[in-house]
Amino acid sequence: MGHDNKALFCCGSRPELIKIYPVYRQLQTTTKITPLLCNTGQHRDLMPPHLDSLGITPDFQLNVMRKEQCLDQLMAQLFAQLPSAFDNARPDIVIIQGDTASALASAILAYKKNLPIAHIEAGLRTHDKSSPFPEEIYRQNITTLAKWHFCPTEKARQNLLNENIAEENIFVTGNTSVDMVKNTYKELNGEIFDLPLLRQDKTKPYFLITLHRRESQGAPLMRITNSLLNFAKNNPEFHFIFPLHPNPATSQMIKDQLGTQKNFSLITPLPYPQFVRLMADAFAIITDSGGIQEEAPSLNTPVIVVRNNTERSEGIESGCLRLAGTKKDTILQELNLLINDKAHYKRMQQAHNPFGDGQAANRITAHLIDIIEKTHAKPI
Ligand code: UDP
Repeated sequence: MGHDNKALFCCGSRPELIKIYPVYRQLQTTTKITPLLCNTGQHRDLMPPHLDSLGITPDFQLNVMRKEQCLDQLMAQLFAQLPSAFDNARPDIVIIQGDTASALASAILAYKKNLPIAHIEAGLRTHDKSSPFPEEIYRQNITTLAKWHFCPTEKARQNLLNENIAEENIFVTGNTSVDMVKNTYKELNGEIFDLPLLRQDKTKPYFLITLHRRESQGAPLMRITNSLLNFAKNNPEFHFIFPLHPNPATSQMIKDQLGTQKNFSLITPLPYPQFVRLMADAFAIITDSGGIQEEAPSLNTPVIVVRNNTERSEGIESGCLRLAGTKKDTILQELNLLINDKAHYKRMQQAHNPFGDGQAANRITAHLIDIIEKTHAKPI
């Protein structure tokens, strides 16, 4: 094919980069499609170490973050800055991942420029507009704008069929996060990072914790950290490692609440390979993160989800995740069950990962090539 087909990946956050990476890398090895990357800068501080460790230089680097910016101002910056990246890239297809502001703004612009959109991680739903906020509404809107939908699971496909998306445009591929965690763990090959000051006693089992969801801020986060403090005090034989999301709205409150507890280590966010090591070696993970719910089951680490609902209910059904809510009694109940009931712990550890088999990027790449070839045979 004489035509140089270009796919523009638009992303701005750590989880988007981690999840598009396996597809982006595979496209780099094909001659059929040239991948270009636009980093909006939405996670200004979190992204650069990840780009570095993955060896990626974005083709387009935007700078959309302003001090104390609200969600609407972020959207305005995205609409102000994305068009020139689109005009310079002149892509044949726009590829977006998930449900961030960067993904939605890119989808709206692509739609206005009449560019077809492929959506990775399509079809996740809680059907609750307030949780996750604003991602549930962002992803529902992205679905209406996208042409092709790469769903991680059959359930996600069903969600899209219920929204009248054409069956022939939906592909169940698995989540690329599973490709990423499996490949990274394999590449670690047993490597242990020496993370200074992480734990006083390295023989102690530890819980790994991350919390960042916007809808948890305020009272729910207070209840979660109170529960953790109570649990940590009652169980000094465990250590608690907590990489803090840089969002000042949550990190200061967490430091105030947990900073002086002896068996807690509050640390800065880690590069992905080191974080994978920590997930693999943890006794269990306590989190409100989406990506971690998908990754940890491939490392046989049980996950306690401190949210009121999850769009990843396949993991609850499979048994690798437990939904603990955000109330003290339900959180403590789940944590105590995990440390006191060996059979329950083992069942969680051994549960099947329903989010993918590590081959999602192969499938998505094959579909993209097929799509591009068909597009040239018959313009859309
Ligand atoms: N992660 C990381 N370092 C850290 C914490 C998380 O590399 O210190 C990775 C994690 O493995 C997962 C992603 O970041 O791939 C999750 O990001 P986050 O929880 O911020 O977003 P969500 O998945 O909820 O959208």
